[in-house]
Amino acid sequence: MRNFFSRFFQGRYGSYGTDKLTRFLLILAVVNFGVSVCTPLGFLYYVGVAILVYSFYRLLSHNITARYRENERFESVFKKIKSLFKRTRSEFLTRKNYHIYTCPNCSQKIRIPRGKGQIIVRCPKCMTEFQKKS
Ligand SMILES: [Zn+2]
Repeated sequence: MRNFFSRFFQGRYGSYGTDKLTRFLLILAVVNFGVSVCTPLGFLYYVGVAILVYSFYRLLSHNITARYRENERFESVFKKIKSLFKRTRSEFLTRKNYHIYTCPNCSQKIRIPRGKGQIIVRCPKCMTEFQKKS
């Protein structure tokens, strides 16, 4: 039986182990099944089946190069989305803890911590001082 499986998988993409795209697709399929059972969105069951079929097609594919490229493309898009989330989150935290002022003289943006009361802000670029409430 073991022999049969190893012969069956020989030269197929799945014989090199699972890649990130496969793991992502499997999780996505499980999420679709879960949501289709728990909500009125029953059609998601079929979306889950389609995703499973696609990931099995990838694992059984003989075109290793094409599957490898797919995974690379997926990883680069995934990385972009992840860094976008990170940036949005850090911007949100900055806005919560800091005021962003604009210098009236040279319109340089200056970041000042919140909650300090009346303060004199000195522009680091042109040394203009102006009063602000932080
Ligand atoms: Zn300035």
